[in-house]
Amino acid sequence: MTLLSKTFSASFAPYNTFGEEEVQAGLAVLKKGMLSQFIGAWHPSFYGGEQVLAFEEAWQTAFQVPYAISMNSATSGLIAALGAIGLEPGEEVIVSPWTMSASATAILVWNGIPVFADIQERTFNLDPQAIEKNLSSKTRAIVVPDIFGHAADLKAILSLAQKHQLVVIEDASQAPGALYYGQYVGTLADIGVFSLNYHKHIHTGEGGMCVTRNPEYAERMQLIRNHAEAVAPGKGIQDLHNLIGFNFRLGEIEAAIGKVQLQKLPHVLQERIRLADLLISRLQALPGLRLPIIEEKCTHVFYVFPLILDLERLSLPRKTIVEALKQERIPGIVEGYANLHLLPMYQKKIAYGKNHFPWIGTQARSVCYDKGICPVAEKLHDESYMSFLISLFQLTEKDVDLIAKAFFTVWERFHLL
Ligand SMILES: *Cc1c(COP(=O)(O)O)cnc(C)c1O
Repeated sequence: MTLLSKTFSASFAPYNTFGEEEVQAGLAVLKKGMLSQFIGAWHPSFYGGEQVLAFEEAWQTAFQVPYAISMNSATSGLIAALGAIGLEPGEEVIVSPWTMSASATAILVWNGIPVFADIQERTFNLDPQAIEKNLSSKTRAIVVPDIFGHAADLKAILSLAQKHQLVVIEDASQAPGALYYGQYVGTLADIGVFSLNYHKHIHTGEGGMCVTRNPEYAERMQLIRNHAEAVAPGKGIQDLHNLIGFNFRLGEIEAAIGKVQLQKLPHVLQERIRLADLLISRLQALPGLRLPIIEEKCTHVFYVFPLILDLERLSLPRKTIVEALKQERIPGIVEGYANLHLLPMYQKKIAYGKNHFPWIGTQARSVCYDKGICPVAEKLHDESYMSFLISLFQLTEKDVDLIAKAFFTVWERFHLL
């Protein structure tokens, strides 16, 4: 009996925001039989079908932006965005090592050179001072993730960009609906990109959305989304640079579902924030645990619940604590966050073919990806960062209590309380 009661098994319900509304929306499209209406030529249907147009309009209204361009993923959205700004082969784009891999590979797709700048420990986002240190005559743009659901230091980054005439692309995939000084994250930069893949706050299975206030970028993203080179003559487009088209088109079923999901976003965020706040308040009393920081005039939408261990104070390695938490049967606890610049592709500089293109073979400057270029990010990954993958679960208050109880049990076991 004592054995049984000693550990509890927390099995949290998997995250799910779908209900009858999504089923009906998808079914209506299926019944009509028009699963996509895009035409890859200059034609009224070049911009997509009824559901795609309606979903984009709904996104424009919700995020208060003049242009929203749907994509079949955020990866496609990032590629379209970097093409739209006219990135030249060999030009540099500054990006964070703490983001999903596509934030950086989208640069390589246009034969641009990713340059990794360090992060701030407070929010794990790009450090404006590190960006400044990495500027060169080749720097063209900055890809700014709003990582884990909290805005980057956008004021500093945007003013730096203005001073040096750089384009800013926000990767807001993890922060839909997060606020920064009263504005939606993703809408402050030249282009913002959102993900609608099934891990994200709201989703369409696979999908993405780009937003901008710039009509030229909007048009170029629409072209790149849908076979630009074939459309340009009919549309009478003279400026052809980077108008290599892809098929990044979103389907009608996904768009119809996306519209329903978008309506749910405020409620989804409210719940996520309420439970994350509850977890913060439950864990507050633990020594040596740095809880998520929410900067002034920002909201955190908690795609991830990030934590830092004060290892000096705890005098235990991170692994011991994480293993002990796992023994308490708390799922979704992970150590570290992989630094992109340390991936083999960057270490070996092998992307297109075998001969180091585009690092060699364009007009690129030599850039360094050695360990040591992003000391804050590297140290956090190697030593003290851990997280709770909050977006995997449909959490309840009871689950939050179980998580908190597990932390207290572990802290007690190691005489840390
Ligand atoms: C999920 C994610 C992406 C990629 O999104 P897809 O829609 O799967 O292509 C890009 N950047 C960040 C920061 C993400 O979290």
